[in-house]
Amino acid sequence: ERDVTVTLVTGGNRGIGLEVCRQLAARGHEVLLGARSPQAAERAAQEVGATPLRLDVTSAEDIEAAAARIEHLDVLVNNAAITYDTWQRAVTADLDVVREAAETNLYGPWRLTQALLPALRRGRHGRIVNVSSEIASLAGMGGGTPAYTASKTALNALTRMLAAELRADGVLVNAICPGWVATDMGGPGGRPVADGAAGIVWAATLPDDGPTGGFFRDGRPLPW
Ligand code: NDP
Repeated sequence: ERDVTVTLVTGGNRGIGLEVCRQLAARGHEVLLGARSPQAAERAAQEVGATPLRLDVTSAEDIEAAAARIEHLDVLVNNAAITYDTWQRAVTADLDVVREAAETNLYGPWRLTQALLPALRRGRHGRIVNVSSEIASLAGMGGGTPAYTASKTALNALTRMLAAELRADGVLVNAICPGWVATDMGGPGGRPVADGAAGIVWAATLPDDGPTGGFFRDGRPLPW
């Protein structure tokens, strides 16, 4: 009987992802730290006590290799993302940029989730955490980041569908906004990464009777 919780975090080499790896490793999780650069994965994993995993979420090959290597998985944190296209507008957005954002922010998590489902079903208490943003809420649409926003709104939709389809398997699937966090993406002025990561760690460590199909920041519901 395994007693260690195995967790995979994408984009774990810097920013919020790195801090999530740090916090979960400190709680005793066996953390697989995914990064598209093997060197970055190695360096970051050493820093936080995790196991490095080469994983570009846009690479079907990388995803297949990860799925072949991971036998049991308890928690998947889809954190990696790109393209905070500030000051752009939907009426003039470059659709190549929109498509590129979706490759990483939507199709990446989607493909990875599909590939790792067998491992998640073999895990003890499956959790999927999709790192989203309040900007993706349909209630407040119009934030001036069209490529990013569309990709995250679609990720929220995926969250709802997966939650419904995996309920019978006991896999809890939630979308989490970390708040505005001071990282390369967030820029200066946001809150510390430790605070942004905490809400993701909360969703990654929910009890078996915890919520599924929800959208949260700091453990509190957000409007879809
Ligand atoms: P950063 O830009 O600081 O880090 C992004 C991470 O994603 C890096 O590790 C990067 O790796 C990785 N990444 C990008 N593309 C890929 C890919 N194809 N495959 C694997 N990894 C990839 O972002 P944050 O830490 O700020 O953001 C983390 C999450 O939080 C994202 O989902 C973001 O949308 C969300 N978020 C952030 C907010 C903020 O204020 N910071 C607010 C709301 C949501 P590499 O080093 O190789 O580029």
